[in-house]
Amino acid sequence: MDLLTLLLENKLEDSLHFPPTIKSSWLAEGVLQLLPQDLPQEKKTDTLIISVGIHGNETAPVEILIQILSQLAQGSLALRHNLLLIFGNLPAMRAGQRYLDHDLNRMFGGRHHNFPLGNESGRAIELESVVRQFFSEPAVMASTRHRHLDLHTAIRGSCHEQFALLPYQSRGYAADFLQWLEESDIDALVFHNSAGGTFSNFTSEHFNADSCTLEIGKARPFGQNDLARFSNIAAALQDLVAGLFSVKRNKMALKRYRVVDAIIKQHDNFKLNIPEDTKNFTELPEGFEIACQQNQTWKITSPANLILFPNARVAIGLRAGLLLAQLT
Ligand SMILES: [Zn+2]
Repeated sequence: MDLLTLLLENKLEDSLHFPPTIKSSWLAEGVLQLLPQDLPQEKKTDTLIISVGIHGNETAPVEILIQILSQLAQGSLALRHNLLLIFGNLPAMRAGQRYLDHDLNRMFGGRHHNFPLGNESGRAIELESVVRQFFSEPAVMASTRHRHLDLHTAIRGSCHEQFALLPYQSRGYAADFLQWLEESDIDALVFHNSAGGTFSNFTSEHFNADSCTLEIGKARPFGQNDLARFSNIAAALQDLVAGLFSVKRNKMALKRYRVVDAIIKQHDNFKLNIPEDTKNFTELPEGFEIACQQNQTWKITSPANLILFPNARVAIGLRAGLLLAQLT
């Protein structure tokens, strides 16, 4: 049986074996801690979390992580970091859905308390707890750099196919982390202006990790992904796991944006005045009324003239879009 089937049937734990140079432990279903055992004393290890499938229908990142897992087990990929691999929402993956009850990626940092106990709120509690456990490992505590990459695919088309969302941080962003993102050949960076309930915000805020949500392309069902489209991401991740920092950018310069405003849906009569298939990073004209609801409208004012994640069908209280300004 292939590793993806074993993962979905919850049999991966019994089937996967690693070389003696890697100490493996499962911290929960779909959560695997791998610690390198053979590193020379003088070589300082870093710490890396890679999470995928926080949204169950975003399958390409799951397939990429399975590939990396298989290479580590076969010994064809060296492990130079303390590594936590997370397959986020397994019941939703099995159902081929984004989530079963509520969006898991709005629940971190204790926000799960605002939801009734269900598949996602239970998993958010569990993931927060395993991440805390991982960061209390002596090897992880001794490491100086903590990174977290949370891989996603977008629902809609995008003017930039691959981009990273960096959580709001009062501290600066680590230059070597931004450098790695740039070398990985993604198209754009988006800097958040406020804290949120995402997994990457949680690890950044609570564990000082260099974190981001990485959108790597469009979501398709399992088996229908053309992994060649994501080969730059897979190569950059392998490079990071092996501690090489050898990938180099091949594309034109990365674009940078900052979030200026969030459009929050608060009424049933909320309306977005753009077509449903509007692409991410679409530029809108000055003065255009992009959204309205009872007693409130959002107008495009320069320089925040680009829309990200427009979606009128979110639940009340959630974000229906972000307005961005390009950084020069
Ligand atoms: Zn997602």
